[in-house]
Amino acid sequence: MAITHNLGFPRIGKQRELKFGLERYWQGDSDPATLEALGNTLQQQHWAHQADCDWVPVGDFSFYDHVLDMSFLLGNIPSRIDKDTGSELDQYFRVARGRSVGNDACGSVKAGEMTKWFDTNYHYIVPEVTAETTFSLNPARLIAQVKNAIATGKNIKPVIIGPVTYLWLCKEKDSSERIDLLDDLIRVYQALFAKLAQCGIEWIQVDEPILVTEISAEWKNALQKTYHTLKHPNLNILLATYFGTLKENLTLACTLPVAGLHVDAINAQEEVKHVVDWLPVHKVLSLGVINGRNIWKTDLSQTLQWLQPISSRLGERLWIAPSCSLLHVPVDLDSETQLALDIKNWLSFAVQKLQELNILKRGLNDGVASIQAELAENTLYIEQRKNSAKVHCAEVAAKVAALTKSQGERQSSYSERAKIQKVGLNLPLFPTTTIGSFPQTQAIRTARKHYKSNELTNEDYKACIRAEIERSIKTQETIGLDVLVHGEAERNDMVEYFGEQLEGYAFSQYGWVQSYGSRCVKPPILYGDIRRPEPMTVDWIAYAQSLTAKPVKAMLTGPVTLLNWSFVRDDQHRSITCAQLALAIREEVLDLERSGAKIIQIDEAALREGLPLRKAEWPYYLQWSVEAFRISANAVKDETQIHTHMCYSEFNDIIGAIAELDADVITIETSRSDTQLLGVFDVFDYPNDIGPGVYDIHSPNIPTEAEIKSLMLKAVKRIPKERLWVNPDCGLKTRRWEDVIPALQNMVGAAKQLRCEC
Ligand code: GLN
Ligand code: ZN
Repeated sequence: MAITHNLGFPRIGKQRELKFGLERYWQGDSDPATLEALGNTLQQQHWAHQADCDWVPVGDFSFYDHVLDMSFLLGNIPSRIDKDTGSELDQYFRVARGRSVGNDACGSVKAGEMTKWFDTNYHYIVPEVTAETTFSLNPARLIAQVKNAIATGKNIKPVIIGPVTYLWLCKEKDSSERIDLLDDLIRVYQALFAKLAQCGIEWIQVDEPILVTEISAEWKNALQKTYHTLKHPNLNILLATYFGTLKENLTLACTLPVAGLHVDAINAQEEVKHVVDWLPVHKVLSLGVINGRNIWKTDLSQTLQWLQPISSRLGERLWIAPSCSLLHVPVDLDSETQLALDIKNWLSFAVQKLQELNILKRGLNDGVASIQAELAENTLYIEQRKNSAKVHCAEVAAKVAALTKSQGERQSSYSERAKIQKVGLNLPLFPTTTIGSFPQTQAIRTARKHYKSNELTNEDYKACIRAEIERSIKTQETIGLDVLVHGEAERNDMVEYFGEQLEGYAFSQYGWVQSYGSRCVKPPILYGDIRRPEPMTVDWIAYAQSLTAKPVKAMLTGPVTLLNWSFVRDDQHRSITCAQLALAIREEVLDLERSGAKIIQIDEAALREGLPLRKAEWPYYLQWSVEAFRISANAVKDETQIHTHMCYSEFNDIIGAIAELDADVITIETSRSDTQLLGVFDVFDYPNDIGPGVYDIHSPNIPTEAEIKSLMLKAVKRIPKERLWVNPDCGLKTRRWEDVIPALQNMVGAAKQLRCEC
């Protein structure tokens, strides 16, 4: 009898109720009781959605972030947070976002640093430790949730992050070594386990995703020590790994003294046979057979066939589940009323994924005959997707198959091109420019909303955007920038804007996924071969260029970013999908060039985000992603200048790949971490032009001329001045014109000083 369970359910609610509840609370428009009540309601709803699971998770719900919840559970709160002021909830939000409610009596404190959760687009609050850190159990919130869950009458399974992964995610705020805190940490987990056992808990899911990464012997020993110490007579530990293959950690994962092991049978399907062989016969094996990272329907017949022999071999010892927490997928496909029906039938969100799980369980336990109807329906849609003309276009496939390396190569080397471009563009030393977007004012947003709801005609909408472009161009001319942009007023989002104009993309209404705290993203769904029916940006750019004698830089989103910020197909390798996107962008680039654009920027904001968890797999990813960029960009003539932009500051480990993009100019984020980032140019001789971001657009502060100059002078020490540009560190769409104008004036002022002094 196979058993089903779930590793975690999305927290935000079908209609993003959590987001709106949190924002009301932070604005001071609701009170703690209302927020707590919302939390309870959502949890009850989520448990109801999981009613068919044999074991339902508890502790997966969070008001902001589950890693931050762990820090509070373990009594690990940064010392800058005053523990005597306000409630625990206030303190929690102070760590999460720098303040609790709008007019926090404590004022604001430095918010905890945020970073990506493994290779997902979910961001967690990095736990902080020092040599002085001691942990202490603070279980009230979790225990309350456990009691509520028990009251539903379901079998419940608390979910927590394992001590080793938790410690691994911690950042030392001094020169101490976080691993030295392990013994103290284990002690607190022991106390927690005792408490949970007292509540009558039988199974606890302990997440150790570091087992799918490359870890040193020290951390492997930490895992051994932890689980040998944590054994509890009445509490069964289900050790959960996800997001990838175990590889060299496989035997370790199988032999740790726990009652069960969960493995990602989507990403590590090939490893499962070895796990079955290695796993001691008293242990439960949980297989994550439903993809928790994408939105596609599971091929139930195929999965069932694969599971049957394992089920016969393991019997009661087999559990089945989604591959990871469903946090990374939208809540409920039934909310979607506007998706084309055929495409909708190919999809499965969290609620549907749990239904698939239940069908599989019935198939395993009661025989295939018992799920005949469900299987037939599933097979129908799987086959429709496989054969759909919406998905497969022979012409696109042929173009990708015929791609050659030379299509990614410029006609001449950078140094040759640079000479030609210098003459053609006639730019001063230290040319000034921006990253693309200007403030998205309320007026623009309202116009777009009215246009989408047919309250504004196409002509009126266009007129509104044109007026905005005119304002951007005039403002830039007045400020005295050298390379202008049109301002991206027509774009709601840098992926959605292109996705909406490409064939092969669909958009959901409610397909929200939590990015961090109350922030959600709605990734477009890339379901089919990518085609560009017509130019996507040419009219706007040509219009902007018609208003000025200065060069206007055209603005595109690159193939790798389009890929990494979408839900993408699972029926072909990501590199193929990326190459298709590259071909579409290449056509756009050539159309722009034909229409007179002399400078074209292709943003690759998310290149880094696609890096695999294991370093050993980086070179392959970088190879095909760099190739895709080159295909998209490099068909242009020598005189056309290609820019790219990346918005992060950790470059050191991929700088070689970035140089290989062979963009004429790259603009990067530096202002928040100047010395750290520029350091890379001490050891790596970056060959082309570079614009280190000298204006931190993430902060409302206006940088002074002196600050900008001092950052640029640091750059001058490392990069020849002939190759330096002066620009902000990202797009300005989230800022207000009142801040942008003086900041850009200071930037231009600083550039003028540099031209005189360097
Ligand atoms: N061109 C985009 C903008 O300026 C780039 C955004 C980004 O890097 N995230 O908004
Ligand atoms: Zn950026």
